[in-house]
Amino acid sequence: MTAHLTHTAQPARERCAACARLLTHGYFFLRDRSDRYCPECIASRPRCDACAAPVGDQHWTLHDGRVLCARCHTTAIIDLDVARELYEQTVAAVTAQLGLALRIGVEFRLVDAPTLTGIRAAGSGEHTAAEKTLGLYQRQGRLRAIYLLYGLPKLLFRTVVAHEYAHAWQGEACPLLEDDRLREGFAEWVAYRHLLYLGCTRAAQRMLASSHPARPRL
Ligand SMILES: [Zn+2]
Ligand SMILES: [Zn+2]
Ligand SMILES: [Zn+2]
Repeated sequence: MTAHLTHTAQPARERCAACARLLTHGYFFLRDRSDRYCPECIASRPRCDACAAPVGDQHWTLHDGRVLCARCHTTAIIDLDVARELYEQTVAAVTAQLGLALRIGVEFRLVDAPTLTGIRAAGSGEHTAAEKTLGLYQRQGRLRAIYLLYGLPKLLFRTVVAHEYAHAWQGEACPLLEDDRLREGFAEWVAYRHLLYLGCTRAAQRMLASSHPARPRL
């Protein structure tokens, strides 16, 4: 889920998506996106925490300091009721599509970035603070919960829910599986299948092309 910026030295006739200046001396773009950015904006502007694009003059800062570009903000899941409904829809779809039903079930929590970092740190000491976490499945005693960051764009929210739900299913179906590559590979496969289920083939293709070993255990 890391965004890759590519630099092209050729001038383009288009304008920078962040500052609207003509792109006269090369530009950058994000994989699979048509927006292009001038080198100055790449170097100086804050980046959207959801898609990594340099933000334009119109952008949003969430209360925990995360920044959203205008595009990601359009579908950002901020309201708890909206989040819960989308969570339920995603879980129902994954269960129907792949048969991953839970016997005990799992709770859903919408949290901010410091809360998620704290929960992760309390759960395991395996991660460094630099890793970006968007969601987390955790069992603490009798509490089994999926935590999601608020403010994620809708499709990213669904992708992370599908991934974390897969971990919740693993918790019931194969609790002794410790191989991280198998655990994460399966969770990513569930997220990938969910994107296909939604008809989001480009987002699914993007998952195939992104570098998964760098992805932390969420
Ligand atoms: Zn620019
Ligand atoms: Zn964005
Ligand atoms: Zn994971």
